[in-house]
Amino acid sequence: MKTVIMGAGAMGSLFGAVLTLSEEDVWLVGRGRDHVEVIQSKGLTMEEKGKIYHIRVNITSDVTSIGKADLVLFFIKTYQTERAVSDALILQKEDTIFLTLQNGLGNEEAICKQIDRKNVILGVTGHGATLLEPGRIRHAGWGKTHIGELDGKITDRVNHVAQMFLKAGIETEVSQHIHDLVWEKLFVNVGINALAAITGLKNGQLSDYPETMRLLESLVSEAVEVARRKGIRIERDPLERVKAVIEATRENRCSMGQDLDYKRRTEIDAINGAVVREAKQLGIPVPYNQMITGLIKVIEKTF
Ligand code: NAD
Repeated sequence: MKTVIMGAGAMGSLFGAVLTLSEEDVWLVGRGRDHVEVIQSKGLTMEEKGKIYHIRVNITSDVTSIGKADLVLFFIKTYQTERAVSDALILQKEDTIFLTLQNGLGNEEAICKQIDRKNVILGVTGHGATLLEPGRIRHAGWGKTHIGELDGKITDRVNHVAQMFLKAGIETEVSQHIHDLVWEKLFVNVGINALAAITGLKNGQLSDYPETMRLLESLVSEAVEVARRKGIRIERDPLERVKAVIEATRENRCSMGQDLDYKRRTEIDAINGAVVREAKQLGIPVPYNQMITGLIKVIEKTF
């Protein structure tokens, strides 16, 4: 199976590295010239649990040079997905599968604008990675990866992708309810990301203050209400899950926090902003999510 990963940032490089180590046929497509050039000349350096790996991975900034792909995996920031999908069209043959493991809502829609729905599968991953400098990443978090067909069917192709991930050490399950799992992850991002970003706190510090915990509970409760009204099945208590993630990632400065710290655009539109959009369609008020989305957008405008 020839896999092309669109986006050679933190997560794309991580998946590219572990799939390459597992002897899969993988290509990374990157944009940042520094990162691409360092990897082309010296290979990718991955820090993982105190060990350092130097890995020769296939990487290019020219997507036209790869040929056709069996699987295209998107690890692009959500606001860049549409552009990356158009770039990836050249990789397409009749049975190419397009998979997103990005965070937030809206990736499926962005991909399906240009790709036939029957060729798209969806997923979420509990892994985390940080780009330390060009050519160097840290594997920073471990967790399950779930993938599934949009219509919930268990197919050979989705099993095949799961097997490939499993062989590479990426613990993966195929789900018949992948949209529920996308929302489950969204609850975590809705509660933590913008709040930690604005307050300048690390994840764990959110639970040190009653004020941040009250705000977090309101943000998550609003998102849960929207999800319920949309018919999303919610099995585990979302708030308890968010609190567990805060504890498990105490020392982590979340990605939206890092984006604000470095004056970069955030994924707010796909996270709290997506809750606001969905709520509007349902005609229900989500004042906490509306306010925090507005605040982040104003901060972005000052960059
Ligand atoms: P990142 O910014 O490190 O990487 C994105 C990369 O995509 C950048 O290198 C950018 O140059 C590249 N890019 C943009 N447009 C492109 C194009 N058209 N063609 C090729 N490359 C292009 O971001 P990340 O942290 O790897 O996150 C990617 C996605 O995964 C996001 O949706 C994020 O929320 C999600 N995610 C991240 C983590 C994490 O720990 N970092 C964990 C789970 C999910």
